[in-house]
Amino acid sequence: MKYAPIIGLEIHVQLKTATKLFCNCPNINDGDAAPNTAICPVCTGQPGTLPALNAHALELAMIAGHALHCEIPDTAKFDRKNYFYPDLPKGYQISQFDVPVCGKGYLDIELDDENARRQSFRIEITRAHLEEDAAKNQHTPDGASTLVDYNRGGTPLLEIVTEPDFRSAAEAKAFLQELRTLMRWVGVSDADMEKGQMRCDANVSLMPINDDGTFAQEAYNPKVEVKNINSFRAVERAITYEIARQTDLLDTNTLPIQSTRGWDENRGVTTEQRTKEGSADYRYFPEPDLPPVNLAEIRERMRSKLPELPAATRQRLQEEFKFSKADASFLVSNEGWSDYADRVMSELGEWMTVSEGEAEKVAKLVGGWLTSKLAGFLTEANQTIREVRITPENFAEFIKILSKGEINSSNGQKLLKLMMEKGTDPSQLMEEHNLGQNMDEGDVVAIVERLIAENPSQVDQFKSGKENILMWFVGQVMKATEGKANPEKVKEIAREKMK
Ligand SMILES: [Zn+2]
Repeated sequence: MKYAPIIGLEIHVQLKTATKLFCNCPNINDGDAAPNTAICPVCTGQPGTLPALNAHALELAMIAGHALHCEIPDTAKFDRKNYFYPDLPKGYQISQFDVPVCGKGYLDIELDDENARRQSFRIEITRAHLEEDAAKNQHTPDGASTLVDYNRGGTPLLEIVTEPDFRSAAEAKAFLQELRTLMRWVGVSDADMEKGQMRCDANVSLMPINDDGTFAQEAYNPKVEVKNINSFRAVERAITYEIARQTDLLDTNTLPIQSTRGWDENRGVTTEQRTKEGSADYRYFPEPDLPPVNLAEIRERMRSKLPELPAATRQRLQEEFKFSKADASFLVSNEGWSDYADRVMSELGEWMTVSEGEAEKVAKLVGGWLTSKLAGFLTEANQTIREVRITPENFAEFIKILSKGEINSSNGQKLLKLMMEKGTDPSQLMEEHNLGQNMDEGDVVAIVERLIAENPSQVDQFKSGKENILMWFVGQVMKATEGKANPEKVKEIAREKMK
């Protein structure tokens, strides 16, 4: 039997606010402060304390909602989700049950894999709601006791729930990567999975399918929720593992048990944690200490602040500036790069308004020198694009120099490094460090004539139609001039002299 994986995701995104969701304690990451130093009576659930909603968290939730094309209602309310665990001091978590801040939405995804079953697809968002995070339990190495750090307790989370629209582990991973880009892009979260700022649970089940791809049964098989997925690699591995595990079960006519399983990164397996609670087990009821929130005004105010979204920027970079799909994707996925590229292209402005093919050539040059060379040098220097000392104006000047063949590629790299160090304009640096292909034409002619005299067999080959022998001359001249000659000029001279 063949099966189709049915996968849905629940993603917790830690909102980038200064303070926690219902008190004034700082919203910090694990390890940024000593345990239990960012706590107060409210977030530790002392009797007599009252929560007060953080307005900024609500604003960020609205921005995220707009970015995910969600319907946003006029009002929303909070509810108590009851369960007992040491990481939850109140014995309940303030969350949202039936009226979340964000309703139905979607996110469009493109896969870079040509062999994938679908290259682009839409994932429907079921809802997104605000809730406070739990504290963090830490088991002592001897296993005898558990320590609790309440610093994380009460920090603001947006839980984003998708429809079961994914059909492979790779699709789930691509969605999470796009979601990270989006959350960073609109300034809602740093969404770093390694730091726990974005956490993912995956619901996985399998449906038997007919040869034509349609479902071979009506009822859905039980789903398994996989928790503790803390990296993009883990998302792919955990789902792939779970698909294989459930396939083995179904092949022996055993239905998987509806349950929660944890992903064990070291062993590369999922292990059963508990059989699944229904929402009835959480005894949800409206939070009596928080009034319903009016979203209408804040929803419209945040809508007007929304920047151009990543998908639109990627498309614009390709259509307007002729960047390749891969370069546009790099520029958008890495923070600060599309702004920089935009400014470089605007500096190149009128110089770029040449024939169609030329614009693509320049875009290829800019794309390559930004995404591979400059990005590589910045990584080596442990710098970000926002810190780079090369102004977009100087980078544009550098591109013009390359484009005119005034410098070769290896000296171009030297020049780019010098620009990073000095922060000055490239023409001046090129002259100071003698990096240009500025040899006197007479000198080049002399070298070519000498080469022709000394290498009759190369000359014969050229005369018998071996055009690429010209590259041999370029190589020899470059060697003799330490890269100072312009290769196009050398070819021209050699061709002329061998006529
Ligand atoms: Zn607090």
